Amino acid sequence: MPALWNEADWDEHERVEVVHDRASGLTAIIALHSTHLGPGAGGTRFWHYAEPEMAMRDALRLSRGMSFKNAMAGLPMGGGKAVVVLDKDGTKTTEMLHAFGDAVEALGGNYVTAEDVGASEADMVEISKRTAHVCGLPADEGDAGGDPGPFTAHGIYLGIKAAVAHKMGRDSMDGVRVAVQGCGSVGGGVARLLAKDGAQLILADIHAESAQDLAQETGGEVVDVNTIMSTPCDVLSPNALGAVLHEDSIAALDCAIVAGGANNQLARPEHGKLLHARGILYAPDYVINAGGIINVSWEYLCRQAGKKCTIEQVHERIAQIPGRLQSIWEKSEAEGRPSNEVADAMARELIGRG
Ligand code: NAD
Repeated sequence: MPALWNEADWDEHERVEVVHDRASGLTAIIALHSTHLGPGAGGTRFWHYAEPEMAMRDALRLSRGMSFKNAMAGLPMGGGKAVVVLDKDGTKTTEMLHAFGDAVEALGGNYVTAEDVGASEADMVEISKRTAHVCGLPADEGDAGGDPGPFTAHGIYLGIKAAVAHKMGRDSMDGVRVAVQGCGSVGGGVARLLAKDGAQLILADIHAESAQDLAQETGGEVVDVNTIMSTPCDVLSPNALGAVLHEDSIAALDCAIVAGGANNQLARPEHGKLLHARGILYAPDYVINAGGIINVSWEYLCRQAGKKCTIEQVHERIAQIPGRLQSIWEKSEAEGRPSNEVADAMARELIGRG
């Protein structure tokens, strides 16, 4: 493995810990990209990696992404992320979760964890038995916290409406064609909210049943997963995987706007230039998909302060996402630069690395 600082995704991370606990078999990486604005906050991904380098790359990229996301969301939080390296069978035990909680606790509050791919609220409960620096815990009705998915979906819904107003000059979603890739927690939530506003939905999911069920519920139409990226629509909303925007897929897009929740949608930052050159309005992923981290961060901050935050308070903050997108698009147009470059520069400025 090359030295850490030769890694393409090394970005002067403040701290990268490799944790191994022999008794439980836990192997994890905790990467703190920046604590300039506060403790590094970001979820823990439980995943089987074919190569150790891939786990390190994920931790480095995802933690930098969290620095940018949290800064642009106006949160008093830095950026961090952890990966727990699972075996081929995906074995995850209570002992491993406790050992991971010990590792988070040892960082003394510099890192705050939550759910990511492969993690559940129940896992966070186990981790919370060893550290207070965890969020995304089950919440009482009306309180901030719990599953971040619906909050992420709500922010994306607001962002899509802002994009349609900005690009198409329309203040209603009635009849607007939105293609949704991925009908899970986030994609499903976005689709349900848009359907209430009269949007025409085109849906695709590798689990055909998820797409069919959602289509039935929302009056949408299902298309093949191989055609969703090039389907004629006003808005393409990627809510499944990262790296879906590359030379080939961008050339085939038949939409005016790309706005969705998947992390790292651009295969590489320079793909933002291709979207820009085609005149497609792009909502930078880490700006539009911040609803979930806004929810769990305020759950954490309020608990630390010995009080509770309500869902209404969280929604007030999520409601600021469209304004942030608007200022990015205006700057992008004024300077003739792709929106992802504008957002990255703004985020770097906020974390003191401009
Ligand atoms: P999820 O697992 O609930 O849903 C993902 C869906 O995408 C699944 O139904 C899956 O079958 C489908 N899918 C996978 N590959 C696909 C493909 N090639 N084509 C079509 N569909 C495919 O996950 P989620 O929580 O909804 O997250 C979706 C995306 O949003 C992820 O990239 C995640 O990192 C990102 N994200 C989620 C949150 C959150 O709060 N859950 C927050 C920020 C970002």
